[in-house]
Amino acid sequence: MNRSIDCHIHLSQRPDDMLRRYAESNGLRYALDEVLAEMRAHGVEHGLLLSPPMESGGILPNEETLDLCRKSGGVLSPVVTVEPTKEEVKAALELAEEHRKAVKGFKVRLGYVDAAVDSPVFGELYDYAEAEGLPVLFHTGDTATSDGSLVRSHPLVLDALANKREGLTIVICHFGNPWIDDAAELIYKHPKVYADTSGLTTGGGAYGRKLAEVLASKLSEAVYYAGGGEKILFGTDYPVTRHGDALELVEMMDVDDPDRERILWRNAKEVFGL
Ligand SMILES: [Zn+2]
Repeated sequence: MNRSIDCHIHLSQRPDDMLRRYAESNGLRYALDEVLAEMRAHGVEHGLLLSPPMESGGILPNEETLDLCRKSGGVLSPVVTVEPTKEEVKAALELAEEHRKAVKGFKVRLGYVDAAVDSPVFGELYDYAEAEGLPVLFHTGDTATSDGSLVRSHPLVLDALANKREGLTIVICHFGNPWIDDAAELIYKHPKVYADTSGLTTGGGAYGRKLAEVLASKLSEAVYYAGGGEKILFGTDYPVTRHGDALELVEMMDVDDPDRERILWRNAKEVFGL
């Protein structure tokens, strides 16, 4: 069993959490004790907790994510989700400031929220994140809802941001899936742009196994293209993907063991200061 760090976990204790449907289809209860047990069973020593989307349209309040992290006994660290209004940006930055030691980064839900990556509303967030050395995670690629905007969640929208803000650490969540090649170019081109492997093996229907093989092959190509595995972070997107399946995907990649180790935990330790 390899050591690993999970850079992308969701959790709430609310019934109107949209991810409960994924949990059910994966045979998961979607609870704190369960995710901690899954992590222990798979050698996942640490995880980053992100706020899940609610049926009402918004997100689980960041305070509740922080609270779940406190209850995890140091195993989970919070990432603060930032929604695109002046008030919410201000509140998110105040929360991060108040919990400086605990908060490991920010998340922007591209494709779900009514704002593009270059919207002026995020200006203060990027300023703060850049100054504090806190990574900003961006949802990219496929949206779980049919009314999401793929134009806004396409990974290539991050190129202009990375050009403009060379000091900002950017994480391309879900490797831009299905635009994995585009994400590979971004991590190759920009010194501070990373991509995570979370939530990839969901779907595929009867072709689930074939899909996993194709994804493992595309991720391996991304490593060859970038010339190594320094820019890739392991993640599950629990409860969207089970820990065992997400780890198997990394296991299936045709890369050298030192690169697999970088992907599984070394990169995350460095990028998030864990
Ligand atoms: Zn997610």
